[in-house]
Amino acid sequence: MPRSLPNIIITGTPGTGKTSHSELLAERTGLKHISVNDVVKDRECHEGWDDEYQSWIVDEDKLLDAIEDEVKQGGCIIDWHACDLFPKSWIDLVVVLRVDTATLYDRLAARNYPEVKLQENMDSEIMDVLLQEAKESYDEEIVVELRSITADEMESNVERIEQWFEQWKKDNAP
Ligand code: ADP
Ligand code: MN
Repeated sequence: MPRSLPNIIITGTPGTGKTSHSELLAERTGLKHISVNDVVKDRECHEGWDDEYQSWIVDEDKLLDAIEDEVKQGGCIIDWHACDLFPKSWIDLVVVLRVDTATLYDRLAARNYPEVKLQENMDSEIMDVLLQEAKESYDEEIVVELRSITADEMESNVERIEQWFEQWKKDNAP
């Protein structure tokens, strides 16, 4: 069955602004914010805690099962630092947020990330890991890269996604 509302992934290295963007977009559009971090924790889609990385070891099959019904209905914003596990057929737009390394360093340091995790995330951002992952997993025309360094950029990013959403609804009206 076709969706009456689209599904949007907001992805990027930790600290790029996924949750901030998702919350603002959800508030303005009524789309539902799915914080995958919370789903993993609350619905126990994991195989335990990794002490070195200070993060859950995610069970991807459990995670997909946990969100499948909701996402298939449409109207979801999926907020996570990975995107290659979600089936192509679920997704209408993939937003990849980007920042410069100095900004990222400051944001992650403010979160007291362990050094190893901080370095890994810095490398990931420098090497375009999430952008490559998005382009390899979805059709290039649905992948959008957006800068998220300033508050003005966040505002214009969210406006741009809202415009895309309005257009999608027109194009997919029954
Ligand atoms: P993520 O969910 O990708 O880890 P967050 O949305 O939690 O990122 O943002 C990390 C930090 O950076 C927060 O303190 C947030 O307020 C700040 N931030 C994110 N995007 C921007 C932006 N475009 N301009 C200013 N601050 C931002
Ligand atoms: Mn987040």
